[in-house]
Amino acid sequence: MISSEPKIKVGIIDRYTEVSGAFREKYKITEDVVVSGEFRAVVKEGKIILYGGKDIELLCAAEIYCRPVNEGEFLLNDVIFGINFHWERKESQIFQGALHLIARSDGTLTAVNEISVEKYLASVISSEMSATAPMDLLKAHAITSRSWLVAMLEMKKEYSLLGIPSQRTQRTDEVLIRYYDREDHDLFDVCADDHCQRYHGITKIISDAAQQAVNETHGIFLVYENKICDARFSKSCGGISEPFETTWQEQHIPYLVPVSCSVQHQYKEITTEDEAADWITSSPEAFCNTTDGNILRQILPSFDQETTDFFRWKVVYTAEELSEIVCKKSGIDFGRIENLIPIERGASGRMTKLKIVGSNKTLIVGKELEIRRWLSKSHLYSSAFIVNKVGDTFILTGGGWGHGVGLCQIGAAVMAVEGFKAEEIVKHYFKNAELQKLY
Ligand SMILES: [Zn+2]
Ligand SMILES: [Zn+2]
Repeated sequence: MISSEPKIKVGIIDRYTEVSGAFREKYKITEDVVVSGEFRAVVKEGKIILYGGKDIELLCAAEIYCRPVNEGEFLLNDVIFGINFHWERKESQIFQGALHLIARSDGTLTAVNEISVEKYLASVISSEMSATAPMDLLKAHAITSRSWLVAMLEMKKEYSLLGIPSQRTQRTDEVLIRYYDREDHDLFDVCADDHCQRYHGITKIISDAAQQAVNETHGIFLVYENKICDARFSKSCGGISEPFETTWQEQHIPYLVPVSCSVQHQYKEITTEDEAADWITSSPEAFCNTTDGNILRQILPSFDQETTDFFRWKVVYTAEELSEIVCKKSGIDFGRIENLIPIERGASGRMTKLKIVGSNKTLIVGKELEIRRWLSKSHLYSSAFIVNKVGDTFILTGGGWGHGVGLCQIGAAVMAVEGFKAEEIVKHYFKNAELQKLY
């Protein structure tokens, strides 16, 4: 395990043809060149050309590493975030630490922000949660995010040594099972979007509350058998959390096992289609079964507040709409979709395998993320849904938001409001894990 604070590489923009911004303090781009003020970078013949103000060429190289001379800040224009989500938007963002510009072989460039883990966390917690959220929620989130992040850095080293690919696909004529893991990114550790964790640098002032939560948990990790826990989290479990293997590889992880999002009820895991239908069409007592605007505002940034129907939800398609979406998203011509048949589900009812029956083609698809992607223009909230076909209409009735593995963010928020401490919250969702201060 680690014994000092690691640094993290965050991909801010990826595969753009040009980037512009400003160094708000002095930055060193070579041993003897120090710059400040506006800049622009373009790619030409596999190299990045960095221009300063008045378009003066500063440097041309395959990679340009811009290091702050002291405590530096830089700004990037037109950063897109919420990619592929209904609230996608574009804004200028400000970052601390180093800027690394890298040319890709396809003629695009990538901008990476290198920053210390604790600073990164303060920004993430501050942008993901309201400053008015209860301190124990912020602390629980800081511990979870820190563990997730550093476990991933460790795993990445291990995986690249072993040569394990980031996307695993098992494909035959009848079945396509695919999942994606976090070592998805080649040039950086995490992206700045929801795919990893939303990160806006210091664009918005880091709240005192977020900073306090990070300071008070400085270096504290979830640990299981002398290893930092791979502490996954998602928005709402829907009442029961999923084990790791529902979303990723077939591997039993003792602290990522199904738990009730409740201390009053120990819900039974779902094993049959009838149980799935009963569960999904009911509204069981659960921490994340809330529509309390005051609680949701604490954990969902303003652009997410449109979403309040996450615990139980409904999506309706005509056969024509559905056929078009599935064809477009899967790249497979199913013809007219005639039926959707659940084949296998995890503990919370999330499907790991779904059979799509079309007039041209029938195929079983998995795992949960692939199902969510194929059946929606953006993403379905979750793969825990049942299908009712009424005439020419498909009604998908579902529960939960996200993969449902590990900590339930909305459930954790409600626990904190009800007075549970950060340690109780993380230990509720990560069974068998312990807390340990590593630096
Ligand atoms: Zn990512
Ligand atoms: Zn929950």
